[in-house]
Amino acid sequence: MICQIFFKMLNKLCVANIPYALNPTWKKMPMKQPLFFVSNWKMYLSYRANIALYQQYKEQLVSTVTTTGHTLIVCPTVSALAAIAHDKSAPFYLSGQTCSAYDQGAYTGETDAQSLRELGCTYGIIGHSERRIYHHETDEIVAHQAQQLLHQGLIPIVCIGETREEKKKNQTHAVIARQLTAVIRVITRSTVPYFLVAYEPVWAIGSGKLPHQHEVERVFSFIKTLTHGLDIPPIKLLYGGSINPSSVDSLKNTKDLDGFLVGKTSINVAEYKVVIQACNW
Ligand code: PEP
Repeated sequence: MICQIFFKMLNKLCVANIPYALNPTWKKMPMKQPLFFVSNWKMYLSYRANIALYQQYKEQLVSTVTTTGHTLIVCPTVSALAAIAHDKSAPFYLSGQTCSAYDQGAYTGETDAQSLRELGCTYGIIGHSERRIYHHETDEIVAHQAQQLLHQGLIPIVCIGETREEKKKNQTHAVIARQLTAVIRVITRSTVPYFLVAYEPVWAIGSGKLPHQHEVERVFSFIKTLTHGLDIPPIKLLYGGSINPSSVDSLKNTKDLDGFLVGKTSINVAEYKVVIQACNW
């Protein structure tokens, strides 16, 4: 009897707090790992608004992150990085939104990887489609950026994905192979513990349109095949593009998914909290 009561109590607690092995129903539960949530604030907000948003994250997301075990990575505007990094009280990680392909030198307006590290970043986004489109960053440039990040011990978050035209022409896998191969060449034998690859179909970013789960699964499986047996650190696979409280359920059970890269929704803390909590298994 006492045993039964004990296991009932365990059952109630199990979803959030009790390790699977202690849970009498563990065989029925999906074995899901905590996820990565990369919060890309882009240039949506001013310097002061970045700091205010970080304050809101601290007030409203710390317990969500702690109870779910998810990894929350914040990518503020570069001018706010130092002020945000100064505050070491929250269990969040920091990332640059991009970095220079060059070492320090005469490169006006650029941010070097060493400064990102000194500012407190652990990660760096590279290859975001907005950088590829508006700043003409080629695969070769993205590979150099990866090199700079790795040289500083920063973990790359490599964004890849096809445009609508490329999707229409059935070129999704070809585009992904091209974009990823360029970066993988420099990641070979690097010492970072893992790196992140965010599959972000360009047509899904900020459009409210999402791929079907099976389409993302096909891309993930393609990436796994492409990188199988290579001498590279383990890859964490993220999806990015129009994730919000109404869309997250359609992709959160994607096979091999290790997390999400979230743009617009990540600057609305209430909505972002719903997204993160929706992935609380
Ligand atoms: C992005 O730009 O990487 C992104 C995922 O944006 P959004 O979530 O706004 O579509």
